[in-house]
Amino acid sequence: MHKDTFDRRTILAATTALGAASLLPRAAHAQSAAGPAAALPARGEFVVRGAYVLSMDEKIGDLPTGDVHVRNGAIVAVAPSVQAPGAQVIEGKGMLCLPGFVETHWHHWTSVLRPLMRQDDPKSTYFPVTFKCGVQYTPQDSYRSVKLGVSQALAAGITTTQNWAHNVRSPAHADAEVAAMRDAGIRGRFAYGCPLGLPNDKPMDLADLARIKREVIDKNDLLTLGICSRNVDGSLGGTRGAINPTMAKKEWSAARELGLPITLHTSGTGAIKTLNEAGLLGPDLQLVHPLGSDAAGREVLAKHGVHYSSSPVGEARRAGDIQVPEMLDAGVKVSLSIDHTTTYDCDFFMSMRMLYTIAKHRFGKKSKLTMKRMLQLATIDGARDLGLDAKVGSLTPGKRADLILIRTTDSNLSLIGDPYDALVQLAEPTNVDTVVVDGRILRRGNKFIALDHEKVIKDAMNSLAGLKSRAKWPS
Ligand SMILES: [Zn+2]
Repeated sequence: MHKDTFDRRTILAATTALGAASLLPRAAHAQSAAGPAAALPARGEFVVRGAYVLSMDEKIGDLPTGDVHVRNGAIVAVAPSVQAPGAQVIEGKGMLCLPGFVETHWHHWTSVLRPLMRQDDPKSTYFPVTFKCGVQYTPQDSYRSVKLGVSQALAAGITTTQNWAHNVRSPAHADAEVAAMRDAGIRGRFAYGCPLGLPNDKPMDLADLARIKREVIDKNDLLTLGICSRNVDGSLGGTRGAINPTMAKKEWSAARELGLPITLHTSGTGAIKTLNEAGLLGPDLQLVHPLGSDAAGREVLAKHGVHYSSSPVGEARRAGDIQVPEMLDAGVKVSLSIDHTTTYDCDFFMSMRMLYTIAKHRFGKKSKLTMKRMLQLATIDGARDLGLDAKVGSLTPGKRADLILIRTTDSNLSLIGDPYDALVQLAEPTNVDTVVVDGRILRRGNKFIALDHEKVIKDAMNSLAGLKSRAKWPS
């Protein structure tokens, strides 16, 4: 008999046996915006047997043949052989087992707009499309778009995401975005922003920020909260708005009083200087897109413990070098991100490959990035950026069980040498066989266990049709 009994039927039966109500999150306010919470697969007890384990834990290291034992959402043991009588067995032979990818900046609300984009038509690129259609979003559109984005993330092995929500048009929109993350079962941070088109002299909805923390996020095990700020570098800010340091102080102070971190898009030298002079830099700040900084700026960022999130695939299109090597040399913490999926794919393998290749192109033999370093950036460094490294980012007993299995029997991976080299240079999202978040098996054999993917797509198409019509796109 095949020992892998964690099929859809088993898990749904377990869910029913436990009583679906006990599995439902308690965020009643969020439900009102997006319908009842979806029942997620139950957290059971299982052991991945005989996989090639890349733990990303320095003490455990790599196990060419290893077992990973998971119970009630936590990693119990990672070793060459684990005794786990009674646990479900997941066959790991022919698989790489590693922590799920941790992604640190993604504008999920834009996901349904993908069909409207054309890179070779300036009228149909990211900013014109998102600005014209973004102001038409209903909470339902937000829910469906984020659901599409996070389901794509899970399918690609991303188990944690930072939802960079820079179009929160009302409290109901905020609830809807959070509900979509919750219903998909992904781990992540909701970075609360203001609505597109909000005048730059008006603050974001700080009262609702406090409300959603108290009523929704604090009651959820998988989600945390932060804010995404409008630009402060004097640029117009695209769809993200642009504020002066006085407004930044007002909004950021309110967030910091609630213990919430901040994320901000900026490249170049201007914003680093402005923020430093305003006393706004700190270890709770993440900047996005490391391009165009100077050595003095990087030194300041390192001194204040600021993080930088790099989206290599999108940044490769922009002017200037992707300065991940310079940031790391200066001691600035770096993580990886997708940004959005309207004009490029959600593919962390491609992100690692592109970043590695560009660094090699720039620095040749002097490039310090190794294949293993790329995987660290994609896992434990991302977790550190989001303040989750004590919980996830490595396969360490005691941490929560966020892990992925990657098939090495597919044609592109069937003859591999070093597993890190294979993941960076050869792998693709379709090789991600199994995805586990917090001990819940969300995907198995490239298929969702509980999430209705066809419905996600159908709903997204319906939202797109409505948005197109209300925005009178493309006229
Ligand atoms: Zn972005």
